[in-house]
Amino acid sequence: MTQPVRVRFAPSPTGMPHVGGIRTVMFNWLMARHYGGVFILRIEDTDVARKVEGAVEYIMEGLRWLELDWDEGPDKGGNYGPYVQSQRLHLYQEAAERLVEQGYAYRCYCSPERLEVMRAEQVKSKLPPGYDRHCRAFSAKECAEQETAGIKPVVRFKMPLEGEITHNDITYGKVTFDLRTLDDFILLKSDGFPTYHLANVVDDHAMAISHVIRGEEWISSVPRHLLIYKALGYEPPEYVHHPLLRGTDHAKLSKRHGDVSILEFRDNGYLPETMFNFIGLIGWSLDDKTEILTRQQFIDNFSLERIGKTGAIFDRKKLEWMNGVYIRALNPEDFLQRSLPFLEKGLPHQVKRPLDTDYLRQILLLVQERAKTLAEVPELVSFFFVEETAYPVEDLIGKGMTKESTVEALGVSRQRIVNLEKFDTETLETALRPLAEELGLKTGQLFGALRTATTGRTATPPLFQTMVALGKERCLERIDHALAKLA
Ligand code: GLU
Repeated sequence: MTQPVRVRFAPSPTGMPHVGGIRTVMFNWLMARHYGGVFILRIEDTDVARKVEGAVEYIMEGLRWLELDWDEGPDKGGNYGPYVQSQRLHLYQEAAERLVEQGYAYRCYCSPERLEVMRAEQVKSKLPPGYDRHCRAFSAKECAEQETAGIKPVVRFKMPLEGEITHNDITYGKVTFDLRTLDDFILLKSDGFPTYHLANVVDDHAMAISHVIRGEEWISSVPRHLLIYKALGYEPPEYVHHPLLRGTDHAKLSKRHGDVSILEFRDNGYLPETMFNFIGLIGWSLDDKTEILTRQQFIDNFSLERIGKTGAIFDRKKLEWMNGVYIRALNPEDFLQRSLPFLEKGLPHQVKRPLDTDYLRQILLLVQERAKTLAEVPELVSFFFVEETAYPVEDLIGKGMTKESTVEALGVSRQRIVNLEKFDTETLETALRPLAEELGLKTGQLFGALRTATTGRTATPPLFQTMVALGKERCLERIDHALAKLA
């Protein structure tokens, strides 16, 4: 790197922080951290109509949750601020003015009605859409007339009428555009607000951005941006576009595929570590096989050249698997602390609040292996808290068993349990395992009946540990209830 790395994430505050945007953030953030550069958060809020209240806060919340910290930004300040475009309007107005003066841009006075008619004509005659350059050749006198008539102009870029422009994208290589396909796009609107193109270029230059790393959907903006850079006499940054996120069906990732906001994943019990690792590996890889990487490994090994041109698939199955890996790796206390808000919210309301953390500490050990998300935890442990009696009676009667053999199995087990002096896993093991053979049953048949009877479920953590956590009294009560159900 010859110049200091300064990269930015420049969201428009139009909605919730989409995982696709987070992927852009991650590439930028990793780039900055790898090279000891600067990561900037800049809010591109010049499209007033699309602005959504609270969106900036949601974006920041998502980034903070993932610990994707920024060095300069609206809340942080920095030497290149302000970092919100609506607070920098004069800069865009000055740039537009300069471009008009130097002949790279012109004022356009066309009314919305005229443009409407023009568009309709173009559609009718199957002409490519675009501004017909009506005002491009206006003389100073003609402009003055329009101004006196009180018409507020827009400023349009004077697109060269022929030629090509090429940029060398770090991901996509040489990309060439035919200038004849581009129209005289707007730089500054009549209300004094810039368009995305002008504001983006003015700010990337003013903020000394070295690399623009962003989604593939912006690649078609590059020729316009390069022309603005040239007209303003600025050196453009390096461009790195990354492919769009897609679902496993290869369609553009959208709400239709399920959750897409990073905050939804948080609320649905995914760990930030998982999301970081998972998103970091979409369309980027260390060696095509390593799936679990630490933040530091991502930082140490990051390179723009490893961003793939394809293969940006958001695979929810893999995400779930990875979350399970991260959940299992949590130390038990951490698992408890992170599960608590989900338990407070998700356990039935009849369970006394605040929750008994000592008891939770004991039972969470039993489910940590099985949880794929924190949001599943309440469901995995609820039978420890409430009597689940509504299970179907058939669940008590295992394969190859009858009602009678089940009643016998539970009845005899009950007797053995009543007589136990101690109630720990070894004692249960010694008392109940040989019982299966005595009853002429497979252990699976006996334990299945006991499992359903004591938990109301057919799948639980290991049976004896579960029974110990429930305690002798509750196990006996539940077996009695099962026997009554069978009677
Ligand atoms: N404001 C644009 C967006 O919402 C920024 C695109 C860019 O990075 O240039 O994604």
